[in-house]
Amino acid sequence: MKRLGFIGVGMMGKPMAKNLLKAGYELTVLDLNAAAVEELVSEGAVRAEHPVEVMGQCEAVITMLPGSADVEQVVFGAQGLLSGIRDEHLVIDMSTIDPMVSKRLALEIDSAGGQMIDAPVSGGETGAINGTLTIMVGGPAAVLDRCREVLAVMGNKLIHAGSEAGMGGKVKLVNNMITGISMIATSEAFLTGLKAGLSMETIVEVVGTSSGNTWVLQNHFPNTVLKNQHEPGFMLDLMYKDIGLALALADDVGVPVPVAGLARQVYQSGRTAGLGRKDFSVVWKHMAKAAGVHRLAPPSDDAE
Ligand code: NAD
Repeated sequence: MKRLGFIGVGMMGKPMAKNLLKAGYELTVLDLNAAAVEELVSEGAVRAEHPVEVMGQCEAVITMLPGSADVEQVVFGAQGLLSGIRDEHLVIDMSTIDPMVSKRLALEIDSAGGQMIDAPVSGGETGAINGTLTIMVGGPAAVLDRCREVLAVMGNKLIHAGSEAGMGGKVKLVNNMITGISMIATSEAFLTGLKAGLSMETIVEVVGTSSGNTWVLQNHFPNTVLKNQHEPGFMLDLMYKDIGLALALADDVGVPVPVAGLARQVYQSGRTAGLGRKDFSVVWKHMAKAAGVHRLAPPSDDAE
């Protein structure tokens, strides 16, 4: 695989595509955002106008799009990838989407003579920039083997979650369910402490070395909440989408998930307040307002 297609060069896709260029792959790129495409063209990529054109030029196409509907549009839409699939063409969908949609995409692509795996990621923008993403793959082992080298450029941990497309998405949703809930749980506990008169420093120091410690506190808070900085990152809209997908998955398999349901309501309320395109950590500020906590970290910063 020398020439690859890359569709969706946003927050995550752009640095992933740049790493592929740096590793010597030739890239054909497509995005609705012309500026993002232009940036990659200036680094050696070739621009395409339609997904079918990307498929026509490349043996394998990577998609990194916001949600299920976007991936369906790119695959099934007019001039979509499906119309350009030839024998053994490979679609690697790295977006986080509904696992049932991944399964259907794989069936359709397979019927057209191609192959598909889902390969969602964790590690955020930093992982995308550094090529240190965790990549969770659903699909036949033989198909995964075809693109191991390509995936290794973007991530340093590859997990084969199952032999069916959608299995990568399932484990990704399990993870994001915990992250989404954890952000809200940490926020409401911290806000309780702040309103009870504790300093942010005291709470961070104690929780950070006690049983309340979380990945969110160690890795997300320092770059967002503690800096009063909520540019994405990972947009609240996307976290809302992922928890919705997790709820659907839980419903499908018959698991009650009351806390995830409540978390989704909190993120929905953040979206209603116009915060959907901020980093999902902005839910902290949204909850601070509801709690009447006006002094956030750093101490000189007021809640908006
Ligand atoms: P993003 O919105 O920054 O990027 C998505 C890109 O897709 C945009 O540039 C948009 O213009 C493009 N796009 C949308 N529809 C298109 C279409 N029909 N044709 C061509 N381009 C189209 O989102 P992101 O943060 O890069 O996330 C992408 C995926 O990765 C999502 O599924 C998200 O859940 C997942 N994800 C994100 C993160 C993160 O930290 N941002 C981490 C892990 C996984």
